[in-house]
Amino acid sequence: MRELTHFIGGKHIQGTSGRFAEGFQPMTGEAITRVPLASRAEVRGAVENALAAQPGWGATNPQRRARVLMKFLDLVARDNEKIAETIAREHGKNIPDARGDIQRGVEVIEFCLGAPQLMKGEYTEGAGPGIDIYSMRQPLGVVAGITPFNFPAMIPMWKFGPAIACGNAFILKPSERDVSAPLMFAELMIEAGLPPGILNVVNGDKEAVDALLDDPDIQAIGFVGSTPIAEYVYARATASGKRAQCFGGAKNHLVVMPDADMDQTVDALIGAGYGSAGERCMAISVAVPVGEKTADELVRRLIPRVEALKIGPSTDASADYGPLITAQALERVTSYVDLGVKEGAKLLVDGRSFKMQGYENGYYLGGCLFDGVTRDMRIYKEEIFGPVLAVVRAKTYEDALALCNDHEYGNGVAIFTRDGDAARDFAARVKVGMIGVNLPIPVPLAYYTFGGWKRSVFGDLNQHGPDAFRFYTRTKTVTARWPSGVKDGAEFSIPTMK
Ligand code: NAD
Repeated sequence: MRELTHFIGGKHIQGTSGRFAEGFQPMTGEAITRVPLASRAEVRGAVENALAAQPGWGATNPQRRARVLMKFLDLVARDNEKIAETIAREHGKNIPDARGDIQRGVEVIEFCLGAPQLMKGEYTEGAGPGIDIYSMRQPLGVVAGITPFNFPAMIPMWKFGPAIACGNAFILKPSERDVSAPLMFAELMIEAGLPPGILNVVNGDKEAVDALLDDPDIQAIGFVGSTPIAEYVYARATASGKRAQCFGGAKNHLVVMPDADMDQTVDALIGAGYGSAGERCMAISVAVPVGEKTADELVRRLIPRVEALKIGPSTDASADYGPLITAQALERVTSYVDLGVKEGAKLLVDGRSFKMQGYENGYYLGGCLFDGVTRDMRIYKEEIFGPVLAVVRAKTYEDALALCNDHEYGNGVAIFTRDGDAARDFAARVKVGMIGVNLPIPVPLAYYTFGGWKRSVFGDLNQHGPDAFRFYTRTKTVTARWPSGVKDGAEFSIPTMK
């Protein structure tokens, strides 16, 4: 079993709290890592390293900062396969999916190379007699990010890339389930020339998270994970005066209009519903066919496709999806399937008895498909985060739209139709942050921003894109009057633009 470390001040540091989390290989169920769980004192050590390093980095011009990120991208490309294999081993997704996890993070770092442009302020000459106004963006100082297990490369990069490009020092608390990729990134950043202390990785659980949330020297918290924890992190971080953006869970609907191309719709539902074992915040977990005829055809076509899903270990590049992350996750998702049956939904494909030959202790679940799911059922209301798709039949387009709008989550949604008017109306009226038209996983590219609505998010501004540069900087505005513009005498009333 590999004993892992923290990464603080540019070095691997052994944990000293005496507390550890065991990490299991989802493919086999074997314990493979021991992850140290940081104490408050260890978190404080990381903050002190970051505090000492940040002023120098913040004063480094943005172009030089971008060059370090450019070098980092070269190093990630060099070590890409090694990182992908590590992700596959610890997370359970297969190598092609792990490569995608890295790539979607890399794209955000590429966007961050534009830091010199993105950090620019504004200037107004002659705003008054002899008066010029200009604004500047400055880094916040030391900031922290807390990330989930499901994208161990992409989401840490979404957090530390923009934060570091803006001149902050960053403390990452990755999911304790798969910490190796973040540790590798921290090492590569040092090789790329990042000063020690600017990117630190502190491993841990609630104790480490609470220490970050309470630390008076941390200016901002970026969180991604489940909704109850996002809400908790937001409340605690903002109570201590921090800027916070906390992204939570999802229940993404795909509305199927009667005129949709059924081949494309079924492909989309199979890929987005079951890819990565449904462990994506943008996975589609609810299909909403409009009209009984559409529903009957959709279900008839989905059944054989779900039955034919190829499940495999993370070493099998041809598998459609692999194991779930932990034994507890398998147990939780399976118990939702049991619950759906009890609630009266029709389980058309039951993956509960699936066993992966040769990997009997891995955390595998066959694809499950429910029909006849209704809005009062818990399997509809709650996030399952597994390979389970629920069909909720809608009578009309308005009913389908209302379902999407009434759900407490609002991360992603999709509509499949050939009718431009319907698609346009849907995009305008749906209360969800990211919308796909004939596209099932509408994760915006790096130069747009990523974020949901309703209880899928707590706080302001989205992740990546221009919003990330707003989140990780503070604006200062200078109004300067030159002596040539000064009139004699004191002014007692508020200056206005007459
Ligand atoms: P999680 O909420 O269990 O954990 C996320 C992070 O919070 C981890 O670093 C974990 O160590 C920490 N944490 C867990 N319990 C805590 C507690 N009681 N107090 C303080 N910190 C705690 O989430 P997960 O299971 O790792 O990830 C899956 C969830 O993340 C799903 O709900 C998924 O929808 C969501 N997610 C959301 C987005 C998004 O952008 N909206 C993206 C990816 C994943």
